[in-house]
Amino acid sequence: MLIVMKSDATDRDVAEVVSVITELGLRAHPMPGAQRIAIGITGNQGAVDASRFENLPGVAEAIRVSKPYKLISIDLRPEKTVVRVGDAKIGGDELAIIAGPCAIESRAQTLAVAEAVRRGGARFFRGGAFKPRTSPYAFQGLGEEGLKILTEVRETYGLKIVTEAMDEHGLDLVERYADVIQIGARNMQNFSLLRRAGHSRLPILLKRGLAATLDEWLLAAEYVMSEGNYNVILCERGIRTFAQHTRNTLDLSAIPAVRRLSHLPVIVDPSHGTGKNYMVTPLARAGVAVGADGLIIEVHDQPERALCDGAQALTIAQFDQLLTEVRAIHEVITPTPVG
Ligand code: PEP
Ligand code: MN
Repeated sequence: MLIVMKSDATDRDVAEVVSVITELGLRAHPMPGAQRIAIGITGNQGAVDASRFENLPGVAEAIRVSKPYKLISIDLRPEKTVVRVGDAKIGGDELAIIAGPCAIESRAQTLAVAEAVRRGGARFFRGGAFKPRTSPYAFQGLGEEGLKILTEVRETYGLKIVTEAMDEHGLDLVERYADVIQIGARNMQNFSLLRRAGHSRLPILLKRGLAATLDEWLLAAEYVMSEGNYNVILCERGIRTFAQHTRNTLDLSAIPAVRRLSHLPVIVDPSHGTGKNYMVTPLARAGVAVGADGLIIEVHDQPERALCDGAQALTIAQFDQLLTEVRAIHEVITPTPVG
């Protein structure tokens, strides 16, 4: 059930609807929009009785939601959500660029890449301190030492830090250092981690699972939102198919598909989406062309020496060229405001 308030509904009207929902033992999620507030209801097993709400002051209509998701839905909020990270945004008019190495390997490597990312005008820096690796013998990340290096990146370059938490316990730690918490593809259906992320004050970058359908991915976002954290950014990073010419198949059709169903911002990861250096820039261009709100790009000062995902890392010069190209595309496809 979704309660749409009239455009002239008062704060008291909203509070009254919220208290009726709470008295039913359910949870109310008020979502302010440009024209009106809508209030999502979660926690109900069966249908909620619409007649309880229809005659309350300020209520325009009570809509039964037939889709499995509620809070991510464009029905709840017709305008796009802009996730604010300090003075930076994801989902606004500007293309959000998140760039950095796959893993934080050392202070020198991290600061060298961060300097280049800042120089290019990106607002977000990525880099894993905890790495989900296929082999237990591969480099697993520097852990808290890596998080401390990321703090230095924020302080020196003013970049917002995007870094992965692999489990609930790790999230407690990562939360103290990050600006945005990444939940990786392998964890997209780690429901206890999603719920814990829902209690975080930080925005969540939610990667699509390796074999996740659109509905499964959106329902994973719904887990986070149902706990009260509405700042979720979706990230298409490629799915597993029979294709052998790429590491994953980057499903760019997911971008307009998400856009049709959800108000959440959605970005593209052409690095994991292809796994190959020479494909990253072309697919980044394509991602922006299909309407992504941003890109997450792996960059390394010495890709041949990278401890993780070197084959898909761009050099700093390649990254600079990518920025020029994707910004030109973004400018062409963004409607200029009238007046
Ligand atoms: C990463 O961003 O380095 C990463 C591990 O991504 P994914 O979860 O998409 O594989
Ligand atoms: Mn990586």
